[in-house]
Amino acid sequence: MIFNSDHPLANQTAIVTGASSGIGKACAIALGRAGANVIVNYAGNSRGAEEAVAEIEAAGGKGLPFKADVSRKSEVDVMFKAVVDTFGTVDILVNNAGLQKDAPFVEMSLDDWNYVLSVNLTGQFLCAQAAAREFIRRGRRPEVSVALGKIICMSSVHELIPWAGHVNYAASKGGVMLFMKSIAQELGEKGIRVNSIAPGAIKTPINRMAWETPEAERDLLRLIPYGRVGETADIGNVTVWLASDQSDYIHGQTIVVDGGMALYPGFRDNG
Ligand code: NAD
Repeated sequence: MIFNSDHPLANQTAIVTGASSGIGKACAIALGRAGANVIVNYAGNSRGAEEAVAEIEAAGGKGLPFKADVSRKSEVDVMFKAVVDTFGTVDILVNNAGLQKDAPFVEMSLDDWNYVLSVNLTGQFLCAQAAAREFIRRGRRPEVSVALGKIICMSSVHELIPWAGHVNYAASKGGVMLFMKSIAQELGEKGIRVNSIAPGAIKTPINRMAWETPEAERDLLRLIPYGRVGETADIGNVTVWLASDQSDYIHGQTIVVDGGMALYPGFRDNG
């Protein structure tokens, strides 16, 4: 295969879940600029999905907005069928959709626990299973990639760092870590490459309160040794690399993209 450095993902098709805002939108645009056809999945914000498609098309790529709730198997199945009907197959899945429903542990409702787990963990299960089944059905395409297919799970530094007041979210991301590693162990021999990205604090709607005022941003920066809050493009860049053959020998790993947040910065001048 000849590596195309401008379009390392040419002739491949990617699905990015939760791609109408934030990190998912940036990943969709970055994958499109790297040459992939991109399915911009969204739950409700069709405008955000259409904006992402417009950016992909402005860069010469192809995009398709697609509404589906990743926590519902029937909707995930319809989405994968539509993608195969439109583009022939799927090569890359970015399991990005996620949300928070925060509460002190003793006040957290069962509904809020179940809701977060259903999107952040069950949604990743449903989409990864559909993707793996499609990779196996389609077989290898060595002219586009060494791997049979690539799955990238959007985790969080909270797959490692406990998070009081967010136990449903932290449990979901801890679950994503061993979900990812277990399917990597199981699917590797088929040529399916599976990894996670663990963002630290990235400026998106999910954590607006943590950075939208100068005081909040100053407090947040105390947790980030590298001295800046992350941008969505920081994650988009790593996603393209992890989806490409440039990272072909990376399998079953979480790439932490956090400006050093997971380095226990509280110990800098203490302990
Ligand atoms: P965001 O709120 O902008 O993006 C989350 C997206 O998921 C939204 O577009 C939302 O509509 C979508 N979504 C929610 N439920 C869905 C469902 N049932 N089906 C399909 N889509 C659904 O926030 P973000 O920061 O861009 O988050 C993206 C991912 O990154 C999440 O998995 C989040 O946990 C993870 N993450 C974010 C940060 C950060 O600092 N922003 C840090 C660590 C991890």
